[in-house]
Amino acid sequence: MLEIKDLKASIGETEILRGLSLNVNAGEVHAIMGPNGSGKSTLAQVIAGHQDYLVTGGSVRFNGKDLLDLDPEIRAREGVFLGFQYPVEIPGVNNAYLLKAAVNARRKHNGENEIDAFEFMQLAKAKMKLMDMDPSFLKRGVNEGFSGGEKKRNEILQMAMLEPQLAILDETDSGLDIDALKAVAGGVNALRNPERAIILVTHYQRLLDYIEPDFVHVLSQGKIVRSGDKSLALKLEEQGYDWVREAASA
Ligand code: ADP
Ligand code: MG
Ligand code: MG
Repeated sequence: MLEIKDLKASIGETEILRGLSLNVNAGEVHAIMGPNGSGKSTLAQVIAGHQDYLVTGGSVRFNGKDLLDLDPEIRAREGVFLGFQYPVEIPGVNNAYLLKAAVNARRKHNGENEIDAFEFMQLAKAKMKLMDMDPSFLKRGVNEGFSGGEKKRNEILQMAMLEPQLAILDETDSGLDIDALKAVAGGVNALRNPERAIILVTHYQRLLDYIEPDFVHVLSQGKIVRSGDKSLALKLEEQGYDWVREAASA
């Protein structure tokens, strides 16, 4: 589904991704770990098409299409979803309105009918129940006055409603208490299926106790320096990132 080859990307004058390759198939969950500043968020942003990043080499293909050639909105409509590490507040715009607009943009792109108000509410309520979210959430301003945990749940709700083919969650676990973490993990696990791939960007192993990845990759200085199964995450938890850095520069 996703084929990244020798990807190089810069912000300003600084090269951040330095030849990164990664293949993700439908049905797989990949965890991307790595020290602060290693380029994890940059990778997520480049896949989503954030304008601040300049791709200077390599390729990203999604279902065989050149993803780098598509505008960010089209990438989203094609089924790429990026959860934000720092979700924005949009006071005055209610959550339901934004969600419905996003769902309909995707449907339209796929040549499907718009979702009607009733169907939308039924679907949203079902998804919210899954994550222990109060239905009043839908009427509130987007992320307005939400706690950290509420913002993260809202992000998973957005993902659940959009049913992306490829979901990238950047540090969805940061700042969550254990109940919120479990709720978020439950929401993500409910979305695992043979047609969907999920990339979890996380600094800590904790999230992976609740969402079991098929593959774990370690990013260091803009490259994947180690790949393995979930035992790699446990090794990182025990030994930190130093051995990876040493191995990478050796
Ligand atoms: P991670 O998510 O792994 O912590 P990032 O992708 O956020 O890493 O950052 C990688 C590197 O790029 C860091 O050294 C960071 O300081 C730098 N960087 C990220 N965003 C910007 C920016 N907007 N301007 C300048 N440097 C940036
Ligand atoms: Mg960071
Ligand atoms: Mg980051």
